Amino acid sequence: MLSMSQRKRVLYRGVSMIKGWPEKIEAAQRLPSFTLHGRSIPRIPYGREQNDWGADKNPCHDCRVLKGEFHVPSCDVEECPVCGAQVLSCDCKLDLVLGNEQKPRLISSRSGAAIAVILTGLVGAQTFRAAFWQAPHRFHWIMPLDYLRLPLWALWTVNLGFYVWLLFLCTAFPRSLRGKERILVAGWVPGVLLSPVQGIVPASLANGIQYVKAASIMGAFFAAVAILLEGPTRDDAPSNDDAVPE
Ligand SMILES: [Zn+2]
Ligand SMILES: [Zn+2]
Repeated sequence: MLSMSQRKRVLYRGVSMIKGWPEKIEAAQRLPSFTLHGRSIPRIPYGREQNDWGADKNPCHDCRVLKGEFHVPSCDVEECPVCGAQVLSCDCKLDLVLGNEQKPRLISSRSGAAIAVILTGLVGAQTFRAAFWQAPHRFHWIMPLDYLRLPLWALWTVNLGFYVWLLFLCTAFPRSLRGKERILVAGWVPGVLLSPVQGIVPASLANGIQYVKAASIMGAFFAAVAILLEGPTRDDAPSNDDAVPE
């Protein structure tokens, strides 16, 4: 462990603390409640504890938040909203639920966004070609890798894997994705779900399906481009979880 003198310190709102701690304070504000047996229980902000910790005059002595703010998780001042004891040491087994800002991200880097654009663009181009220049009910792969002349088993593995992964994305956590990622995933859904169907329905219906696929993948492509342009939101700076501000 580093000794305290080796840690860089910063001044945050007039309060001295170790580098990286202000980010933890900000992240803590996005965690307004605990969960207990699936129930949401609001946290007690600094200054509303039964004990007087001097919130009117000083920041929290342990985690440095100001009056009215939520303590940084693992702060020894935070009071349990169920039993009134220290959250750190009580037996209520409360879980902190993640706030909106910490939802899982599909795309967390610029290169990830670029891959999404390229992938969606490739599949989009193929979908459009099939919609307007080809007999649409002809079987084709979700992942247009035919030109790589891969062995058939490899094509099957890649496509099946991709299919399962997309199904997982569509069903497991579209609600937790942020706006544009949701559009991106949603845009892929018709292509994924309807492609296998196209081989077994009449040609005219397969034709219609192809237009639906083309329109939705175009939406996905624009969403991917937008994510790339605005850049993915960054996670909190990496820092030691055991770090204390002093
Ligand atoms: Zn605190
Ligand atoms: Zn408790």
